[in-house]
Amino acid sequence: MRTQVGIVGAGPAGLLLSHLLHLRGIDSVVLEIRSRKEIEGTIRAGVLEQGTVDLLIESGVGGRLQREGSVHHGIELRFGGRGHRIPLSELTGGRAITLYPQHEVIKDLVGARLEANGPIFFEVADVGLVDLTSSTPKIRFRKDGELKELACDFIAGCDGGQGVCRASIPEGVLTPFERVHPLGWLGILVQAPRSSEELIYALHDRGFALVSTRSPEIQRLYLQCDPNEDIDNWPDGRIWEELHARLATDEGWTLHEGAILDKVVVAMHSFVAEPMRYKRLFLAGDAAHIVPPTGAKGLNLAVADVRVLAGALADFYASGRTGPLDEYSEICLRRVWKAQRFSWWMTSMLHRFHEEDRFRYQMQIAELDYVTSSRAAATSLAENYVGLPIG
Ligand SMILES: Cc1cc2nc3c(=O)[nH]c(=O)nc-3n(C[C@H](O)[C@H](O)[C@H](O)COP(=O)(O)OP(=O)(O)OC[C@H]3O[C@@H](n4cnc5c(N)ncnc54)[C@H](O)[C@@H]3O)c2cc1C
Repeated sequence: MRTQVGIVGAGPAGLLLSHLLHLRGIDSVVLEIRSRKEIEGTIRAGVLEQGTVDLLIESGVGGRLQREGSVHHGIELRFGGRGHRIPLSELTGGRAITLYPQHEVIKDLVGARLEANGPIFFEVADVGLVDLTSSTPKIRFRKDGELKELACDFIAGCDGGQGVCRASIPEGVLTPFERVHPLGWLGILVQAPRSSEELIYALHDRGFALVSTRSPEIQRLYLQCDPNEDIDNWPDGRIWEELHARLATDEGWTLHEGAILDKVVVAMHSFVAEPMRYKRLFLAGDAAHIVPPTGAKGLNLAVADVRVLAGALADFYASGRTGPLDEYSEICLRRVWKAQRFSWWMTSMLHRFHEEDRFRYQMQIAELDYVTSSRAAATSLAENYVGLPIG
């Protein structure tokens, strides 16, 4: 088998890259270890930056997103029992975020690829990269037990934080930057009406809480917890008690309870591998970098990476120029580090660091007070949250 670009991983990065390349007349093959049903059912991100939304619409996969996504023009920061609105659109010349679940983006992209007869091999096994130093790198894998080899001009490693692509790069080529945080999020999916029209990020003495939404009927709520927390320690009653306590306000707001459909614990982690390239292998999305979820940047960074990569590959196939491919890593990393900075700033402002003294907590309250009372500080939050320009 042969293709121009072999793509490992059918997450947002891999599928969107394949779609963008197809629009430019470039062939690709996507290999995914999980089933279609699994990737279309995994609950993850939900906040899309303005630039992500614009790209999905421009590239013809934004129809359902426009009909079913919910455009938000502000977020609330809640602390000291009071809510403070950050008017995102007013502070950023009309830009906004859209709430549309990641697995719906995945469904739209899988649909578009299959409709265009774009090959996606689901449920492959034993994926390995060979001949990475040659001009025809190859991907070996098993499909239905049979060993196959895909020869490529380029390989895109879009296989997330636990994939094989980054691990295939020889030792010493990449510089890893990593922080493991003493924080986790317990996320629940709830069948209930919305408790708020806009997202609520809350800091309370007992810890962080986030009120988010997926649809008018399904809500997504998060609680700060220990990163190694055993989910069995959190029966439904304890979760609601904790959410009520952390989100308490005397401003006449009600948290709507409902059936909990799903519970998950996510440990927080920051990671960047530099450069995002080795020879003809390019890393994109979580394969190259992981951010704590507080800034809602992970999916958006994956999209930004593949937008740059698709443009650089198109330039190569049209003109033979390698300059844009050579600049890929540097261009992406500038955005990645700014997203790391923002994600960590949001995380450190909004979480309770119980092992540290009260001085730390008072500094966080002062930071929140400043961000919600200074237009300059609120504008800085808003422009990062809706997404910085590409480049
Ligand atoms: C709870 C939670 C909330 C989040 N909230 C947000 C948010 O609001 N906004 C935001 O922007 N981001 C958010 N994120 C982050 C976001 O989900 C990820 O950054 C995003 O999925 C990255 O996309 P990706 O395509 O790079 O990787 P992934 O989505 O991880 O996709 C990689 C794919 O590769 C496949 N794969 C792995 N190994 C192999 C292999 N060896 N061979 C073939 N295939 C392989 C995997 O099965 C997977 O389908 C959140 C994450 C979590 C966990």
